[in-house]
Amino acid sequence: MNLILLGAPGAGKGTQGKNLLERYRIPQISTGDILRSNVRSKTQLGLKAREYMDKGVLVPDDVVVGMVSDRIKEEDCLNGFILDGFPRNLKQAEVLEQTLKDMGKRIDRVIGIDVERKELVRRLSGRRVCRKCGANYHVIFSPPMNIGACDKCSSEIYQRDDDSEETIEARLKVYEQETFPLIEYYARKGLYAAVDGIGTVDQITNFIVSAIEKGRSNT
Ligand code: AMP
Repeated sequence: MNLILLGAPGAGKGTQGKNLLERYRIPQISTGDILRSNVRSKTQLGLKAREYMDKGVLVPDDVVVGMVSDRIKEEDCLNGFILDGFPRNLKQAEVLEQTLKDMGKRIDRVIGIDVERKELVRRLSGRRVCRKCGANYHVIFSPPMNIGACDKCSSEIYQRDDDSEETIEARLKVYEQETFPLIEYYARKGLYAAVDGIGTVDQITNFIVSAIEKGRSNT
């Protein structure tokens, strides 16, 4: 099953992707995570990507498209994958479609997680992330038990550079202008289903699983 998680920054794609990975045992491919790991390791790709990420704008298509094409050809993606944060614009969606076609594959379902703008800003501005395992916290709504340390692996918790007020606005604008049109793109192909992104993490996972299963029974 080849799945795409769509949604604005802060909608919960990363968190839900982790739950779906456990449930369906297929890898979660987060372009944001891959890029951040390159930034940390100061690879050439990371150095190039950083200037865009710090501004909250999209990294050039050729960089991310190549990265994803390579990743989905790896062996662990044979039974499927969950794309989180990709595609982010129509160009990326078209290249992905062609790449999959060349491999004799296709996207099976696109799930959009709906969260209103005000809530996205509230989530992103208080978000903290574990440097090691990627677990998410919120300074007010879901703080870790010990300040600054992850509940799951005790590693350091930090605030992403692009979760600053100014960059959040830029990222939401990029989402509205460049990524939002993908909803219609996938709806026209009969692949899109939206779920309510407000609720507990497990409730939302259940909404997503129902939407996936419903899509499967229709094909
Ligand atoms: P994310 O963790 O998904 O919020 O991504 C963080 C940042 O990485 C974004 O603001 C972009 O600068 C960059 N990025 C992630 N995915 C993509 C993509 N598919 N295309 C272009 N830039 C991306």
